[in-house]
Amino acid sequence: MANSAESAAARLEFIRTRMEKARRRFGAPPEAVELVAVSKTFPADVIEPFIAAGQHVFGENRVQEAKEKWPGLRQKYPDLSLHLIGPLQSNKAREAVARFDVIETVDREKIAAALAAEMARADRHLPCFVQVNIGGEEQKAGVPVDQAVAFVRNCREVHGLTIAGLMCIPPDGQPAGPYFAHLATLGRAAGVEQLSMGMSGDFETAIAMGATHVRVGSALFGKR
Ligand SMILES: *Cc1c(COP(=O)(O)O)cnc(C)c1O
Repeated sequence: MANSAESAAARLEFIRTRMEKARRRFGAPPEAVELVAVSKTFPADVIEPFIAAGQHVFGENRVQEAKEKWPGLRQKYPDLSLHLIGPLQSNKAREAVARFDVIETVDREKIAAALAAEMARADRHLPCFVQVNIGGEEQKAGVPVDQAVAFVRNCREVHGLTIAGLMCIPPDGQPAGPYFAHLATLGRAAGVEQLSMGMSGDFETAIAMGATHVRVGSALFGKR
């Protein structure tokens, strides 16, 4: 597996260099951008060389898949951080709170309530992001743009959730920059510090617009 270890390290280095260049080029904050390596669909033996190469933050979009794939890796590497980046059903709140370290996809009252109840029960209080449907797309998850600020306040004040930031997936096939800029504006209005935005095709643009977290899958792991 020397080969895959080498290429994992090289791909990580390539993405990290591009992130750092984007961050410097655009000057402004953030001070640092966190790379969330999106490992969905890839098995543990593909992921492990990336951990060995120094990557400790990963994103998965399905609770069930994380439950099957990550316990072994977590046992071996205790300081991993796993982000849930896919839609969450309230009946999966218990598993999600048990398996993940950050929930990026809080987008409705029912989920906020279920997560809050489960975090209290388990005494495991995870930072969350509110997902915003930044393009107003019917088929996409996320709280509507015009309700985002109120929803953040509600999550905090009614449910006692720690809302660290906002997250979005902009519409396909359009320049993402204006959507990222809009999320940054909403983030300031909502009083959150962090912005999870940007994927393999547009993470540099996202960093230019203030991303604190980029979620990169295929550029690291290859085609799914
Ligand atoms: C799959 C996925 C990503 C990563 O997408 P790539 O284009 O492979 O980098 C990022 N965010 C979310 C929410 C995803 O589901």
